[in-house]
Amino acid sequence: MRSIEEDVLKVLITKEEIDERCAELAEQLHRDYQDENPIFLCILKGAMPFMAKMLDHLKFKMQIECIRVKSYDGMNSTGSVKIDDFNFDLIKDRHVILVEDIIDTGLTMKKTSDLFKEKGVKSLEILALLNKPVLNKVPLNPKYIGFEIPNEFVIGFGLDYDEQYRNLPYVGVLKPEVVKH
Ligand code: 5GP
Repeated sequence: MRSIEEDVLKVLITKEEIDERCAELAEQLHRDYQDENPIFLCILKGAMPFMAKMLDHLKFKMQIECIRVKSYDGMNSTGSVKIDDFNFDLIKDRHVILVEDIIDTGLTMKKTSDLFKEKGVKSLEILALLNKPVLNKVPLNPKYIGFEIPNEFVIGFGLDYDEQYRNLPYVGVLKPEVVKH
């Protein structure tokens, strides 16, 4: 049986490193939100495994909601975001934490967080597994970041290349011959 792991050039962040870092982030979130019953807003589909891993470690009262925000087409940022129908009454006067897989230019998170702020959240912070600081274009100040990574296109642990590789248990880089040019 051929495994998708054969398409991986290198592993950037292991499963164990992700688990360890999620435990640390959960401690930080516990200190900040233990009495606030916050809403974790999981951005589908990329942040699903990260959210699930965080749930292993989050022990305080909290809620989860999901939204779909689309910003990428293949390997290129389109520069625009699309948010599917969401009942904004759910987040009115609530502490909201946007859960994202990766921040690249920061445009997706900026547009999404601005939108939720307009809809009357009590507070809003960003929790992202990965950040590519060299590419950050917009002022964002995400409060909770798992790992800062260099400017490479990564896949795995929720991150896709044309909808594939989300099921890799680690974050890695694809072999060049796998990527369509
Ligand atoms: P931004 O708006 O910050 O430029 O892009 C954020 C979105 O682009 C992420 O939610 C993710 O879907 C996608 N993205 C950015 N960099 C990468 C990457 O290295 N790999 C994958 N698979 N998606 C990425």
